[in-house]
Amino acid sequence: MTDRSPVVLFAAKTERWEQYEGPLRTAFDAAGLGDATLTTEADPAEVDYIIYAPNSGLTDFTPFTRLKAVLNLWAGVEDVTGNPTLNVPLARMVDDGLTEGMVEWVTGHVLRHHLGMDTHIHGQDGVWRAGSAPPLARDRTVAVLGLGVLGAACARALSALNFRVLGWSRSAKSIDGIETAHGEDGLDATLRRAEIVVLLLPDTPATENTLNARTLALVPRGAVIVNPGRGPLIDDDALLQALDSGQVGHATLDVFRTEPLPPEHPYWAHPRVTVTPHIASETRPISAARVIAENIRRGEAGEPFLHLVDRGAGY
Ligand code: NAP
Repeated sequence: MTDRSPVVLFAAKTERWEQYEGPLRTAFDAAGLGDATLTTEADPAEVDYIIYAPNSGLTDFTPFTRLKAVLNLWAGVEDVTGNPTLNVPLARMVDDGLTEGMVEWVTGHVLRHHLGMDTHIHGQDGVWRAGSAPPLARDRTVAVLGLGVLGAACARALSALNFRVLGWSRSAKSIDGIETAHGEDGLDATLRRAEIVVLLLPDTPATENTLNARTLALVPRGAVIVNPGRGPLIDDDALLQALDSGQVGHATLDVFRTEPLPPEHPYWAHPRVTVTPHIASETRPISAARVIAENIRRGEAGEPFLHLVDRGAGY
């Protein structure tokens, strides 16, 4: 145990403080951290932990001389993992609420394309389009690229709906009901069979442009891309070409290299693209507050932190 109660700085946008203050205080009490100071302003030399959103404006960690850990509010850490002023453990967000939200969003968008819902939703024009019953999920192959917390949960949910699910990750994985592969050869073999591709990889130097002209040419003609991962996973020009040629039938994109997506970006007007404004899922204050409190409890007790980022790998 340490000699004084910890000082915890909440570094995120003001509206987040309004959402998180109550849940954090409740979670701190439940974790035996009722004496902790939770604040949005503190002398940096006094701060033990930072609850951190990369868009908070805080980028220089140098003045935080007694800092024990930075606890990211988001699952994605690409905007902080390379920060050279950060020399203490960095934990990312793993939150049941965030995972559930992602499973629901991915399942919904996969089912939309699998069932061909657009044909009937947009076709309310008096034309009886008979003979277009969709195939069963058991006859549809969906690939999930990235089998981490979110990808594995989505793969399991799709498998529970009877889809044939392929999964791809950096290291070898074994998940019941999912056919897994890893490494570059594994990616090619996975994409060759994927009628729907879901991207749940982190944004790192190694994952940039995972979908590019070469790999997009591998998917069966007319395949659908669903990207709730990060914008840089896709080479946008290659995707637009593949959409124009019909090689890719549709792309549902939640994340982009530039956000908000600029109004003049060709994705907005493309008939085969669905743009959603980075809403696939978000950290939920009540469940996330428990994760943060548990990590601070661990830090104070000298136990290892949960969900640490591998700064070398970038996720
Ligand atoms: P995670 O648990 O860290 O999982 C990442 C997965 O990607 C792991 O399976 C990892 O492989 C795999 N991977 C990493 N680099 C790879 C590479 N070079 N080649 C092949 N596979 C690679 O992350 P997560 O919690 O599932 O989150 C995934 C991403 O979702 C986040 O990084 C974030 O960008 C995004 N996200 C988006 C939203 C939204 O609202 N749109 C919300 C939350 C998160 P190993 O298993 O072998 O390590």
